[in-house]
Amino acid sequence: MLVFRRYMNNALRNFNYLLACEHSRQAIALDPLDGDAMVALAQQHDLTIKLIINTHEHHDHIEGNPAVQAATGAPVWAHENARIPNQAHGIKAGDWIELGTMRLQALHTPGHTPVHLCLLAPASEYDEVPLLFSGDTLFNACAGNCKNGGNVDDMYDSFVSQLMPLPDDTLLYPGHDYMKNNLGFALDREPENTMAAYWQDQVALLGEDDMPVMTLGQEREYNPFLRLHADAMRQRLREQFPDLGDSDRDVFKALRRLRDQW
Ligand SMILES: [Zn+2]
Repeated sequence: MLVFRRYMNNALRNFNYLLACEHSRQAIALDPLDGDAMVALAQQHDLTIKLIINTHEHHDHIEGNPAVQAATGAPVWAHENARIPNQAHGIKAGDWIELGTMRLQALHTPGHTPVHLCLLAPASEYDEVPLLFSGDTLFNACAGNCKNGGNVDDMYDSFVSQLMPLPDDTLLYPGHDYMKNNLGFALDREPENTMAAYWQDQVALLGEDDMPVMTLGQEREYNPFLRLHADAMRQRLREQFPDLGDSDRDVFKALRRLRDQW
């Protein structure tokens, strides 16, 4: 699969994606914000956008739908319970989305919003490693927020049941570029984490369009929300919150609460 990631240079630091089959040149516009830019990008690479998919209903993930639709006629697909203008099809948990040689499975990952989807392309004869398009559920070095219609217990459940089991070599394509700030948070939680410090140095001088594509294995080395068992992090949390429960859920929720104030 061809993946084109574009940084939108907006206050919310969105990434837009074009996913394409290199044989048929058919493409999916994922979470278009600047629809004209996505259409131009497709033309530049001789791709035809056949489908628009929104991971969730927030405005910064759907605003480019009309422009892409006007230029291509591509239908809008999203979770079956999403209410997105002009939505033509409701995706159910576990559904497969196939276009050319692309095969993407829809993971229903509530938490950021109740209808949030991640898309997973398993390793195949066309892709050596799995690819995860995680929207606002999993970010580099963080989990998505649960402030605008979300639920942190659902987010924890989505992480445990669907994201944590994915293989280490899975490539992570999140919906926003928050990596630098998130690594700061990760280091605040685990000051001795050498991988968080290493990557903070690595990305310090990079522009938003040059941010590295990380694997889940790498994320497991510094993302606090994937490191719920890390002793140093738990100990530091307990010093701040003496009443904190022992469960992974308690740790996850405490981290998310702290990140909201970061
Ligand atoms: Zn969102």
